[in-house]
Amino acid sequence: MYVAYRLKRLLPSADILVLEQNPQDVTFGFGVVLSAQGLQFLADDDSELVQAISAGLESWDDIEIRIGGERIRIDGIGFTAMGRIVLLRILNEKVRQAGLSPIFGKAVTDLAEFGDADLIVAADGVNSLVRTRHEVEFGTRIETLTNWFAWFGASRPFDALTQTFKMTGEGPFNAHHYRYSPSQSTFLVETTAANFERRGLAKLSVEESRSLCEKMFADVLDGAEVISNRSIWRQFPKITNERWSYKNMVLVGDALRTAHYSIGSGTRLALEDVQALVSAIASTDGDIPAALALFETQRKPIVQKLLDAAVKSAGWYERFDENMQLPPWEFAFRYISRSGRIDPDRLASACPAFIRQYREWKGRTDE
Ligand SMILES: Cc1cc2nc3c(=O)[nH]c(=O)nc-3n(C[C@H](O)[C@H](O)[C@H](O)COP(=O)(O)OP(=O)(O)OC[C@H]3O[C@@H](n4cnc5c(N)ncnc54)[C@H](O)[C@@H]3O)c2cc1C
Repeated sequence: MYVAYRLKRLLPSADILVLEQNPQDVTFGFGVVLSAQGLQFLADDDSELVQAISAGLESWDDIEIRIGGERIRIDGIGFTAMGRIVLLRILNEKVRQAGLSPIFGKAVTDLAEFGDADLIVAADGVNSLVRTRHEVEFGTRIETLTNWFAWFGASRPFDALTQTFKMTGEGPFNAHHYRYSPSQSTFLVETTAANFERRGLAKLSVEESRSLCEKMFADVLDGAEVISNRSIWRQFPKITNERWSYKNMVLVGDALRTAHYSIGSGTRLALEDVQALVSAIASTDGDIPAALALFETQRKPIVQKLLDAAVKSAGWYERFDENMQLPPWEFAFRYISRSGRIDPDRLASACPAFIRQYREWKGRTDE
């Protein structure tokens, strides 16, 4: 929808068709986290969008790590979040204001349906039809991470982006939980492949999994319910493509590449892809092949740093059960350093209270 809206604004006479397989007002998951820095990048290109989004944002400055009975606050890492459905409604409204009517409930099954379109923008997610039809031409690589996760919600807010790591009677589990509205939170539960296998979690129905997670995290939920939205156990696919376009087709967002949810950047990357694509089209005067080439050469190096961070962060989560053997303060320090994006000096100025307390703890331990 963001592609359609931005392209129609750039090229008012263009004939643009938006096809979405889901009915209107239906989506997967719950909230979407946008880092404060990510929002700033988006605003640099489209302050109007960020203004529209900002009204529905929950925001906080701390990350909380709960492990081994400790609740450790890491200050200074700004994040915001909103409901996925709210974001989709805002984009839908923008598309309509631009004079377009998306067609909902229409799954594309054959690329011939696009006829002789000048450009097909594949914003069709991890299972992209366009990409799977031309995997060789795009140079697609898919590697499935080993951990299993289920994306639930919770019927209560949490006051910070919280990561709870627990050794439960069912083995090691991690919950990522944060509010995306004043009354609702995302509650994403993750475990290792070995534990998933050992406990036979694949055999559980969605309701049984929901109820198990509610029981395991009852202390954290403090009376709230775990909510399901087609919340099946899944493994995260790490997708990359050597080439971003083929003929008149271009990949954006998750169709193009995925960034592990632990760095909360997939949506931002998808929106920024669109900004870069539209800007390339604007500067190549209707020459679509030139625009697609420019999009790829300009954007590739920009996203690489974030993707490297996502890979390192995902790697850390793949061994979260081993990391849980560390003392809580060391665990929290390794957690916040996991992507290698923040060097120790920057960390000390970004999270002064946390680093001070960590050093005090370390001083006491080393004595
Ligand atoms: C558990 C989890 C948590 C996440 N948390 C965050 C977060 O906090 N912050 C963040 O920024 N990102 C997060 N992400 C990533 C984020 O959800 C994605 O990066 C983002 O949704 C990508 O947007 P997209 O438009 O490329 O794809 P999608 O959002 O997947 O949209 C693709 C759309 O295409 C439609 N579609 C697909 N195939 C067809 C077809 N054949 N015909 C018609 N329609 C079709 C789908 O129905 C869908 O609506 C998370 C991801 C996961 C798995």
